This record gives sequence, structure tokens and C-alpha cells, in this order.
Amino acid sequence: MNCEKLFYNDSYATTFTAEVVDCFESKGSFAIVLDKTLFYPEGGGQPCDRGVMRWDGNITEIFDVREKNDIISHFSKTPIPVGTVIEGEIDFERRFDLMQQHTGEHIFSGIVYKLFGYANVGFHLNEKDMSLDFSGPLTKEDIDRCVDIANDIIIKNQPVTADYPDISKIEYRSKKALEGPVRIVTAGDADVCACCGTHLSTTGQVQMVAVTDSMNYKGGTRVFIGCGKRLFADYMAKNTSCLDISHKLSAKTDEISDKVSDKITECENLKAELAEAKNQLFSYWAETVEAGDVGFMAKDGLTSGEIQRLCSKINEKCPTACVVSKQADGTSKICLFSSVCDTNKVGRAICTALGGKGGGKPGIFQGTLSADGDVPSLLKGALE
Ligand SMILES: [Zn+2]
Repeated sequence: MNCEKLFYNDSYATTFTAEVVDCFESKGSFAIVLDKTLFYPEGGGQPCDRGVMRWDGNITEIFDVREKNDIISHFSKTPIPVGTVIEGEIDFERRFDLMQQHTGEHIFSGIVYKLFGYANVGFHLNEKDMSLDFSGPLTKEDIDRCVDIANDIIIKNQPVTADYPDISKIEYRSKKALEGPVRIVTAGDADVCACCGTHLSTTGQVQMVAVTDSMNYKGGTRVFIGCGKRLFADYMAKNTSCLDISHKLSAKTDEISDKVSDKITECENLKAELAEAKNQLFSYWAETVEAGDVGFMAKDGLTSGEIQRLCSKINEKCPTACVVSKQADGTSKICLFSSVCDTNKVGRAICTALGGKGGGKPGIFQGTLSADGDVPSLLKGALE
């Protein structure tokens, strides 16, 4: 017996009664099959409904709903005996949000199709995000134009309907060729499309639509869009971030982008100045090392790159140079430059003595030491 799909009769109904016709264990949960349901199963890119079922003073949560081979399974952690009459209630806040996104998607996709002839070849909708993949390139101006028209259609509050017309006589969007009775959804003047989802009854209830981001994708365009309350919540969150940045930069919100660019340039200039100053400092430090066969220096808190630069400078006056730098975590970095010894052999000997590890190419060894020790003496010993 096929389950009667009550969600197609009224997409705003929230409660219903139905009889349990089957209940079986499935992957640690229970699949409950009813004679009729308001729970929309995942399909056509629209996520499923969630909610509860009540019976004989019991209640269980329905966390997933799926349709396979015409059977709609409602997944619960609790079994319900076959023959029980349940009262079901869907989480309408979730359903309404998904209908706002889905109906907005119809409006936007229909407009893109009408203006540019591009098909919506990929639709992703979940509780947080919605993205649409179109089969051709859209510029920012193209997208802005579609968003404007979509919002006009929302303001006009046109009807959204679903019926089963003679499809040989109408033009409609569809991902594939269809036969037999096809459910056609008409979203105001924007869209005529084959669809099995649930929709709002008027375009006005979408409230608003905006494209929040877009990118080139497989020769076409992926747009991230939002509608209704979800979009407004997104605006409020971004506004809070924007104001926070604006206060931190002491700039008006419409100036923060330029201000951030200025800060990035400033930061890059300071980095270059700092690198030059450090270079001079390393030259100065290297000058304090006495020229000889081996030059050694210990300086705390240097990065791997800085240790290399300092070691290289010492190596200009000493055929073998070694720098050790203690780090905040208690370990020490070691670097060894030499044109006369096997740096790998000498470096490993010091690492073995002080619980470290490292490696490198001929002439340069870098490693990390876990224990403190008399590195100059170990170096001397390893060179002999
Ligand atoms: Zn639809």
C-alpha cells in the first residue's frame, strides 16, 4: 500500500493522524512506515522534515525521513507497534525555512533560465547553506540583475502553484526528459518547473533573496543564495562583524575595505623593514663570533629561517658554523652549516646525545633538540 503524501495537499499543515503499517530495525534505529504522512522525505535537493510522533502517552523524535521504492521510512530511536494510530507533528519552523529557500531557488533559477537560457544543473540545500550551479557564465552584473527581478517578483506576491498539466503543451524546466503525470510548479511569472518538493503558496512569503557569493564552476557559475528569515539572520550576523571591524579600524562601514587594504600594505612594509633590521642584527651578531674553524652561537626564540640566516652569516667567516635557539616549548632548534665536514653525521651525533632529530642536504643540517646540553663540546667531539 502506498503511503498517502499529505504534504502535497497542504504544505502548511503541521499535525496529522496515521496508522503504523510497518516498523523494522534499521542500522540501530527503527524505520516506521505509515499509511499517510506529512513528513516530506529527502528528495529533489530538499532536505527531509523532522518532528515527533505521539501515541498512548508516548512520544518519539523523528530525526530522518527517506523514500525508497515508494516506501517512506520515518526514522526513530523507539519502535512503534504495527496497528498503532499515531499523531505526527512536523517541525514547521524548519519546514518553513526550507520552503523559503526552495521557493526562492525556483524564482532565481527560473529568471536565470529566462534571461540566459542556463539550466540549474546542481542544487545543494541544507540547514545552513544553499548553492545553485548554472550551466553558463554569469557576471556580477548578470547576477545583480537576476536578484533585482527576483525581488520584484517577491514584492508582487504572485501565487505559487503545483499541478499536473498536459506537459506536451507547456514549456517547463526539468533536469531530465519526463513522461506521464508530472508535477509542475509555477512560481509567479518567474518559473515553470517539474518538482516534487514542498513550496510556499505565494512568492511574497520568500521575503527576500540575495546572492551572497559566486564563483566559476565547471565552465558555468556556482552561486550561493539565501532567502527569507535565514538571509535576514545572515545579514544581522554580518552587520555585527562589520560594525566590530569598523570600530576597531575607526572607519565608517563603507570605508573598511579600503582601510583593511591600507593595513595590509602597512603590515607588508613593516615586515620588510623588520626583515632588513633583523638582517643587520644577524650581521652584527655574526661579527662578534671569533673567526676560526668552528663558529658557535646560542640565541633564544629564533625561527627556523632566522637561524639559517644567522648560521649562514657565521659560516662566511668560519668553515663550520652552528646556531642553537631555545624555543618557548622548551625544545631547541639547531642549525649547522659546513663546507668541510659531513653535516648530517655531525648533526645526528648531537641529536642522538640530546634526544633530538633532524636532517638536511649536504652542507646544511637542521634539527630539534629535546634536552639542553653543552652543544659546543658535543660539536667539537663530533668533529674530531
Ligand atoms: Zn520545487
